[in-house]
Amino acid sequence: MERVGTVVVGAGVVGLAVARALAQAGDPVVVLENEAHFGEHLSSRNSEVIHAGLYYPPGSLKAESCLRGNALLYDYCAARGIDHRRCGKLIVAGANQSDALQRLHDNARAAGAAGLTPISGRQLAREEPWLRGTAALHSAHSGIVDSHGLMAALARDAEDHGALLCPRHRVTHIDCAPGRFDLRVEAGDERFALRTDRLINAAGLGAVPLIERMHGFPDAQRPTQRFAKGNYFRLAGPSPTDRLIYPLPEAHGLGVHLTVDLAGQARFGPDVEWVEHPDYRVDDTRRAAFEIAVRRYWPALPAGALHPDYAGVRPKLMLHGQPHPDFLIQDHRSHGLDGLTNLLGIESPGLTAALALAERVARLSG
Ligand SMILES: Cc1cc2nc3c(=O)[nH]c(=O)nc-3n(C[C@H](O)[C@H](O)[C@H](O)COP(=O)(O)OP(=O)(O)OC[C@H]3O[C@@H](n4cnc5c(N)ncnc54)[C@H](O)[C@@H]3O)c2cc1C
Repeated sequence: MERVGTVVVGAGVVGLAVARALAQAGDPVVVLENEAHFGEHLSSRNSEVIHAGLYYPPGSLKAESCLRGNALLYDYCAARGIDHRRCGKLIVAGANQSDALQRLHDNARAAGAAGLTPISGRQLAREEPWLRGTAALHSAHSGIVDSHGLMAALARDAEDHGALLCPRHRVTHIDCAPGRFDLRVEAGDERFALRTDRLINAAGLGAVPLIERMHGFPDAQRPTQRFAKGNYFRLAGPSPTDRLIYPLPEAHGLGVHLTVDLAGQARFGPDVEWVEHPDYRVDDTRRAAFEIAVRRYWPALPAGALHPDYAGVRPKLMLHGQPHPDFLIQDHRSHGLDGLTNLLGIESPGLTAALALAERVARLSG
């Protein structure tokens, strides 16, 4: 059986950031990725927004890793020439929502978010006359990033430090013992076994299924997950703004918001659609609901201007039968298996938080 020092399962933005951090610390790292290319799932099916840590409960892993990740990401993009823009974002309150906007502002401050400015209804009407809102909160540190450019840079850094990236390698089974993990891997028609003393499960939507295939993992720590698909519709014609425009957040998402990509194309989404299995088709019948959601803050949205674009799927985590709304990093303290780190429920703001999560994993396993 082949032996390697560290195996990272999954080459999305999180797995690549972890591989980079561990390789830079001098570890021999192998990244096993099921698909032919990195980042084909969550990491390329999102809003590409650099979040500023407004929404998450103070002290939560989401809040801390988002704030830290935001700073690390801007620095990394500047250092590596990754396309990005600190374009800012407006969270807009409709009628009867000023208390909810104030609560969001209070939460953001308590969580440590900076660069926030309240905007009056009058100022909003002056700055963005097409928008309907009674007040808004401006976040100066929100922005957008080229997620593929980011992943390409992380992959290059990892490889430059000796990491081996293996596309089309699917992990199908793991026998676990403290400090020793025997993996079964499928690579096309080939099947082989690999032994490692450190295993990082960064498999995104596949992370919970991977735990199901871990023999020797304690049953009490096995999570389950549900899938909340998020559909996007793109806007035909020019964008009315070059900032990000968000309504107030809803139960399982941030609300159907307007993002502008680095080419200036505007799109709306994601909504929340519970699905049994991940799939990425966008159903045109959702258009009417999108038009209603968008017209709450852009009443003059032209008829027929929205077109189905793409979709992503959020992993919604359950642990001990309860929803677990935060990111979850399981290490030996929870499951007793030295050397195993599971990164679970890494939905939004995982793109923003990736470098901070990698820093944390490197610290945990250092
Ligand atoms: C609709 C939506 C919008 C979002 N918007 C934002 C946003 O604007 N800003 C933000 O910060 N975050 C956002 N996010 C969150 C962000 O996209 C994710 O948190 C992040 O991309 C997670 O990356 P990952 O590496 O964990 O997962 P992935 O990118 O999915 O990577 C996991 C990889 O593991 C591989 N894999 C799975 N199982 C196996 C196996 N058994 N063997 C080998 N390989 C395997 C998969 O093929 C995949 O490539 C959004 C998410 C969604 C769904």
